[in-house]
Amino acid sequence: MTIANAFTFGVRIRIVVFFFCFNALLYMSFSILRDDWRRLAAYHLYPSTSNVTSDDLGSDTVTSNIVENVASSAVTSNLPPKPQFEGKANATLVFLARNSDLQGVLRSMESVETHFNHKYGYPWILLNEEEFTEEFQESVKSKTNASVQFGLIPSRHWYQPDWIDEAKAEQGRNTLKAWNVIYADSVSYRNMCRFNSGFFFHHPLLQPYRYYWRIEPDVDYFCQLQYDPFDYLKDNNKTYGFTIAIEELEKTVSTLWQAVKEFMEQYPEYIHPNNALAFLSDNGGETYNLCHFWSNFEIADMDFWRGEAYTKFFEFLDLKGGFYYERWGDAPIHSIAAALFLDKNELHFFNDIGYQHSNIVHCPQQPAFLTGSCTCNRVLSIDYRRYSCLPRYNKMLNGKW
Ligand code: GDP
Ligand code: MN
Repeated sequence: MTIANAFTFGVRIRIVVFFFCFNALLYMSFSILRDDWRRLAAYHLYPSTSNVTSDDLGSDTVTSNIVENVASSAVTSNLPPKPQFEGKANATLVFLARNSDLQGVLRSMESVETHFNHKYGYPWILLNEEEFTEEFQESVKSKTNASVQFGLIPSRHWYQPDWIDEAKAEQGRNTLKAWNVIYADSVSYRNMCRFNSGFFFHHPLLQPYRYYWRIEPDVDYFCQLQYDPFDYLKDNNKTYGFTIAIEELEKTVSTLWQAVKEFMEQYPEYIHPNNALAFLSDNGGETYNLCHFWSNFEIADMDFWRGEAYTKFFEFLDLKGGFYYERWGDAPIHSIAAALFLDKNELHFFNDIGYQHSNIVHCPQQPAFLTGSCTCNRVLSIDYRRYSCLPRYNKMLNGKW
C-alpha cells in the first residue's frame, strides 16, 4: 500500500466510524423520546398496567424493557448514615384494596417484603369498604411473617355524602367522559380519592401509628433498602416522603387552585413562611402548574394529616364538592397541603427507592443514592423526562433544576 492509499484508507475508516457513531446517537435519542411518549400516553389512557396489553403499546413496551433489564443493571455502592432506632419506628404499611385486587396485592407485598420488610417486620394494615373474603385474608397472611390486620372502612368515610348535588356530580362525570379522562365516570374512584385525602389516617386500626408507607396493587420495588425510611423521617425531621413527582391531568382539578387560593386568604396563619409554593406554582401562586407528589407511594407522618391545618384544609375543600363535581385526586390534595403548610425541608425525595407504578418508574440515578442493588433500568427513570416535576422540586429546594 502506498502512502497516499494508506491516507485515503484511514480517512475512509474515520468517515465510516463517524457515521456509525452519529447514527447510534440519533437512534438513542429517538428511542428515549419514543419511550417518553408511550409511557405517558399509556398512563393517561389506561387505568393500570393490567389493562395495558402489549398490543396496545407495541411489542417493546416500557414494562417489558424493565423486566428484561432487571438482570443487567444491578449496582451497589456506599450505605447512607445508619439511622438511630433501626426497625423500631411507630409505623405501619397501609394498603387500601378490593377483594378483586388480590393478585396485585400479593405481588406488591412480595416486592415490599423482599426489598425491605423481611428485615424489619413492620405490621400490615389492609382496608376496604367491604369485608375482605377468607381467601383474600389467608393469601395475604401467607405473604409475610409480620402481623396483618384487616379493617372495614366506615360508610361515612367512603360513600358520596348526601349533601353532594348528584345531578351536578353526574354532569361533572359526563364532562370528564367527553374529554376521555381516565376514571371519568367512576364514582368509586372518587370515593377512594376522598377517603385517601381525608379519612384513612382516622381509621381505628391506624390510631396507634404515626408513620405509614402506602402500598398499592401491582407496584414494584427495585432496590434492596439498606435503612429504615421511617427512622429516616423521624431522625431528620421529615414529614412527607415521595419518589415520583408529576403533573396532574388539568381537567380533573379545574377549580381546585381557586379553592386553595381562597383557603390561603382565609387562613394565612397555616401557610409556612418557608413553604414549597414554588413547586406548585410558577407565578407566585396565581395559577397551579399541576405538579404533585404521586401518592400511590407515600412514606409520611400521619400526625400532619391529623393536625389542625390539614383538617381545616380538607374540610374546606370537601365542602366545595370537587371530589365529586370534578375528580380531585388525593395526590394533588396531599401535595398542595404538604407544600404549603410544611417547611420545605420537611419534604423528602426518597431518591434511593426504585419504584414502579403502572408504566412510570423512578430508578436511582446518581451513584451517591445507589444504596443497594437496584434491578431497574436507570435510563427509563421519569425523573428528568417530560411531565416530571422533579426539576421544579429541585429548583424550589436548591435553586437549581
Ligand atoms: P390509580 O393508581 O389512580 O390508577 O388507581 P387504583 O385503581 O390503583 O386505585 C388506587 C388504590 O385504591 C389502590 O390501592 C386500589 O386497590 C384502591 N381502590 C380503588 N378503588 C377502590 C374501591 O372501590 N374500593 C377499595 N376498597 N379500594 C379501591
Ligand atoms: Mn394504582
